Amino acid sequence: MSDRNPARRSGGEVERATGQTHSTPAAPRSFLPAPAQGFGVTFAQIFRKVTTEQYPFEPKVTKPRYHGRHVLNRHPDGLEKCVGCELCAWACPADAIYVEGGDNTEDARFSPGERYGAVYQINYLRCIFCGLCIEACPTRSLTMSNDFELADDNRQDLIYTKEQLMAPLLPGMEAPPHPMRLGDDEKDYYLRVPGSSPAEPVTEEKV
Ligand code: SF4
Ligand code: SF4
Repeated sequence: MSDRNPARRSGGEVERATGQTHSTPAAPRSFLPAPAQGFGVTFAQIFRKVTTEQYPFEPKVTKPRYHGRHVLNRHPDGLEKCVGCELCAWACPADAIYVEGGDNTEDARFSPGERYGAVYQINYLRCIFCGLCIEACPTRSLTMSNDFELADDNRQDLIYTKEQLMAPLLPGMEAPPHPMRLGDDEKDYYLRVPGSSPAEPVTEEKV
């Protein structure tokens, strides 16, 4: 039967698209009959360590820096870190992020400063988990978790909304909208040492 792959040729030679050929080392010959060689491979596998993973009964533990589902983070008082700048959407090579910025008002404040992310969506049918969006985010609002369980049975549910992506409220956080609690100015939210009191902004030397 002829080899259907035109790039492969017998005799250990592979023909490249350029027409050039190069030799690959020939496999060592065995003096055992072919069936014995075949069963030899089978028996060798029996004593190898089993690598089958019993997922989902034994959940897989990823590496700490694994790129999984995104998270939109909050400041310690619960205000959102996202300022609706769209830099993540511009950085995304797969066009997977959609952002619409909105204006904060004194009556309805979602983030420190002027703007917040009013609409935020990530399309996980497009995302390739490259992490360029989190590199582009100027406020460290957008980060990636280790959660990889993103399969679903319909396309619509794989477009995650802002509500799905927002980090949960931790103890001491208050759901926005609410006034700025960590200072009078948005700089107070960024020029602080973790753990310092809100009334004690950090000097530049400490940062
Ligand atoms: S991880 Fe990559 S592909 Fe996914 S949303 Fe971010 S930039 Fe786009
Ligand atoms: S997640 Fe970051 S980069 Fe994206 S819109 Fe919000 S602040 Fe800008």
